[in-house]
Amino acid sequence: MAGNNGVGPAIGIDLGTTYSCVGVWRHNRVEIIVNDQGNRTTPSYVAFTATDRLIGDGAKNQVARNPTNTIFDAKRLIGRRFSDECVQSDMKLWPFKVVAGPGDKPMIEVSHKDERRQFAAEEISSMVLMKMREAAEAFLGSTVKNVVITVPAYFNNSQRQATKDAGVVSGLNVMSILNEPTAAAIAYGLEMEIGSDGYKNVLIFDLGGGTFDVSLLTMKQGVFEVKATAGDTRLGGEDFDNRMVNYFVEEFKRKMKKDITGNPRALRRLRTACEKAKRDLSSTAQTTIEIDCLYEGIDFSTTITRAKFEEFNMDLFKICMDLVKNCLTDANLDKSNIHDVVLVGGSTRIPKVQEMLQDFFDGKELCKSINPDEAVAYGAAIHASVLDVNTTDKVHDVVLLDVTPLSLGVGLHSGFMSVVIPRNTRTPTKMEAEFTTAKDNQTSILFDVYEGERTRANDNNFLGKFTLAGVPPAPVRAPKINVCFEIDANGILHVLAEDKGTGQVSKITISNVDGRLSKAEIDRMVEDAEKYKAEDEELKKKIEAKNALESYVYKLRNAIEDQMIIAKLSLDDKKTIENAIEETIQWLAANQSVKVDEFEEKMHYLEKIWNPIVTKIYI
Ligand code: AMP
Repeated sequence: MAGNNGVGPAIGIDLGTTYSCVGVWRHNRVEIIVNDQGNRTTPSYVAFTATDRLIGDGAKNQVARNPTNTIFDAKRLIGRRFSDECVQSDMKLWPFKVVAGPGDKPMIEVSHKDERRQFAAEEISSMVLMKMREAAEAFLGSTVKNVVITVPAYFNNSQRQATKDAGVVSGLNVMSILNEPTAAAIAYGLEMEIGSDGYKNVLIFDLGGGTFDVSLLTMKQGVFEVKATAGDTRLGGEDFDNRMVNYFVEEFKRKMKKDITGNPRALRRLRTACEKAKRDLSSTAQTTIEIDCLYEGIDFSTTITRAKFEEFNMDLFKICMDLVKNCLTDANLDKSNIHDVVLVGGSTRIPKVQEMLQDFFDGKELCKSINPDEAVAYGAAIHASVLDVNTTDKVHDVVLLDVTPLSLGVGLHSGFMSVVIPRNTRTPTKMEAEFTTAKDNQTSILFDVYEGERTRANDNNFLGKFTLAGVPPAPVRAPKINVCFEIDANGILHVLAEDKGTGQVSKITISNVDGRLSKAEIDRMVEDAEKYKAEDEELKKKIEAKNALESYVYKLRNAIEDQMIIAKLSLDDKKTIENAIEETIQWLAANQSVKVDEFEEKMHYLEKIWNPIVTKIYI
């Protein structure tokens, strides 16, 4: 692209819990980028083995063989504390180990190259981001540096900051952290006309593999504002798969008098078949499941109708609709005020879900022209292009407005929370509040920063604390301390305090207790990421050297089986080369992962034997 100062075009990445997707604005349209496997989405999986590190499809494909060292769901951990209730309940479901690190930070523990290693969620996400960046670079034929990354609208400050840190660790310049529903709205924004009264209310219904999010946005002259969010972080396509698995486990029990639940391999094979059947049922009324030797040599062959699938998932579909209602109530809007309903996430392909949603909105046509797995990356790519100062290949400008999903404030001495920025305030924003001392002659004040809607500070989410020292001794409540909360364009919170008595302004940074990475930790991770990159390169070279040796040795073996060559070979030479070939084949079988130069050495050894012989043949 012209005039991009060597940094390449800016890209948009939907960093998903189970899948990620990357897009770029090129040639006046969004192009969703395929990965090295030819897929438009990439599993957000990273696996560690005795010899390698795998990211994306490669990692997901080997999960059954290596469950404890294959990491997924890093997005559920990012920016959270180990003691967080969600982390504790998620941990029970993960096959990999999560331990408490310094500052209550959750650390993922794996065995890699016969060593125990710990990774922060940011590092795992940075590896996925690197994979997405590589796909983009291969597709565009240029380096890529600038990126927009999307996050759920309900992500708090520390989750957003941690996502940004993951981008930094992967060597990217994160131009903006964008809300996923806003991205989806931008994707459709291009096609939508503004309503007659100059604005539009848009409901984004995002039902993915493991999460469900509803968001209500208002669009006004190219400006998007998140009005309210609702959802369930543990509801999605996998639950529909589980219902089908349970149904067939019972059927197998009934028909074969056997219980497969104790056999993880059988269950896994059944789950894969059910997920495929579920997808089929989105386009056909009935489908079949055939699994050879499912359990104790017994084949399983059965059929399932769409109606049956809908019946055993109906309660889950209803929960989705209830959450839509909650979101409308929160935004103080009636369903008749909604101008557009946008579908996002693979599970919105389920016809019953579409039908129930359409019925709820009294027959309104749903926006589904953009592939629901790609809508978020699509919007992120548009936004990236808007922010990209280096490109001339431009989208028209879109201004974005988001709101704070939760109230932000300070814990008071009384135990209550004093809200500084109320929930659903437009961001970026800057708000101030006055605080004072709780005791006579108090010279330092400790501020605890929280987010949440509960009255008692302790019931809310603790974000961090800071101390303002050097307050001159004075009677209780006499000092006036002005505290300023600022949320920047990335949704990241900065807090400042000013002692009005002395006129002295001191800039306060929230300490590291919120699980944020320190500069030193980010530097260390960047270094590690570089090291991994070097290791990946080394691995690539190793595979190439091994392949070269393998193909050479088999070429030689074919050559000495050729009658024309045999006729020209002396018996001694034939024996010598046969021995060398056999020895090399055995060496290869025993040395699959030695260093590049050892493969090369072996190659030279073979060449040294073969070259004089071949010269004799062709003289
Ligand atoms: P996402 O997280 O948005 O990539 O959504 C992935 C989920 O969508 C998985 O649970 C898939 O099984 C599900 N999914 C994808 N395609 C279909 C389809 N055609 N019908 C039903 N579910 C689907």
